[in-house]
Amino acid sequence: MITALMPTYNRADLAFEAGEGAWLWTADQRRYLDFGSGIATTSLGHAHPHLVATIADQAAKVMHVSNLYRVPQAERLAERHVAASFADSVFFCNSGAEANEGMVKAVRKAMAETGRPEKFRMITFEGAFHGRTLAMLAATGNEKYLAGFGPKVEGFDQIPFGNLNALRDAIGPHTAGVLLEPVQGEGGVRPASLDFLRGVRAACDEFGILLALDEVQCGMGRSGKLWAHQRAGIEPDVISAAKGIGGGFPLGAILAKEHVARHLKPGTHGTTYGGSPLACAAGNAVLDVMLAPGFLESVDRVGRHLWRGLLGLKQRHPGLVEDVRGAGLLLGVKLADGIANTDAQAEAVGQGLLTVAAGQNVLRLAPPLIITEREADEALDRLDRALRRLAMPAAKVAAG
Ligand SMILES: *Cc1c(COP(=O)(O)O)cnc(C)c1O
Repeated sequence: MITALMPTYNRADLAFEAGEGAWLWTADQRRYLDFGSGIATTSLGHAHPHLVATIADQAAKVMHVSNLYRVPQAERLAERHVAASFADSVFFCNSGAEANEGMVKAVRKAMAETGRPEKFRMITFEGAFHGRTLAMLAATGNEKYLAGFGPKVEGFDQIPFGNLNALRDAIGPHTAGVLLEPVQGEGGVRPASLDFLRGVRAACDEFGILLALDEVQCGMGRSGKLWAHQRAGIEPDVISAAKGIGGGFPLGAILAKEHVARHLKPGTHGTTYGGSPLACAAGNAVLDVMLAPGFLESVDRVGRHLWRGLLGLKQRHPGLVEDVRGAGLLLGVKLADGIANTDAQAEAVGQGLLTVAAGQNVLRLAPPLIITEREADEALDRLDRALRRLAMPAAKVAAG
């Protein structure tokens, strides 16, 4: 018989009762170092006192009023995001897929409203992940996710990741823009090279199309900058955000330049929950922490420390670890053929370390952005023990 909770996920047999900072524990007090952060989402760690107090205070006043009224918390959050980024205007929603849907709608609308209604197609990249709605499945282009869900939504043209010639060849009379993750997350923690990002920006300018970046996973401080595209010194036309932007409270956003945002007039786009007092209070609390002096520098510093430690693991386990890649505190350990990332993930759980598998046989580390170098070292020790167990023939037999 089917489980009451629909069986759409492969869940580990672990349930957490509470957490604090980078730690989570079960009801029977087994402690885990959380280097997954609910898939790059609980960026302030668990039970962050400022986030908890802000949510509790706001919940006791008013949670939701709809967008029929002004929402001061949303106005303030939008103003702060505008001040801290390339953007002129922000739309709030509830998830990454929803932010991407709205972002593609904004790009299409901008083309239609400026006399180019034939331009509606987006160029996307192999290895991308943009979410699970019907259109974002098409943007993601992964046959495994598309299978059985009917005709693929029109308007997405996928090309190899990182290839500027392929991009220039793919731009046609119907192309409205490029949809790109500055660092691919689910696809295997693959950063686009900074030169590629600059080249994409230049090609978009040359052909008069829009650059839309999916910063759902790599944004909000995770790369060591508030937004990952800042590492390349470029300005996109529009970006999507979610995951870390609410610190674990559901919140998504579209951040856009005025030339894109001004076409989403009243009645063109909306969402009931989007930008509620409660969600935006959480978003403001996250910004209070992330915009404090030294916070992003610390993400960068601890990220480099963790990276160096992972390179050490690569040296110690040459037969297991093939590559270390990523940016800031979104790092991937690419494992050798024959060592499944899911086996490594299971061994890490055995050592009290939570990680997330990603594409291309990568073990993804996305710890809370508040971790210390000591916690990074603790994770490295645990990962070292997990890899040592994987290297033992007996462990391989047991795992197989
Ligand atoms: C997680 C993710 C999404 C989808 O976000 P949801 O909140 O699950 O809809 C989209 N794009 C990227 C890059 C992501 O990592």
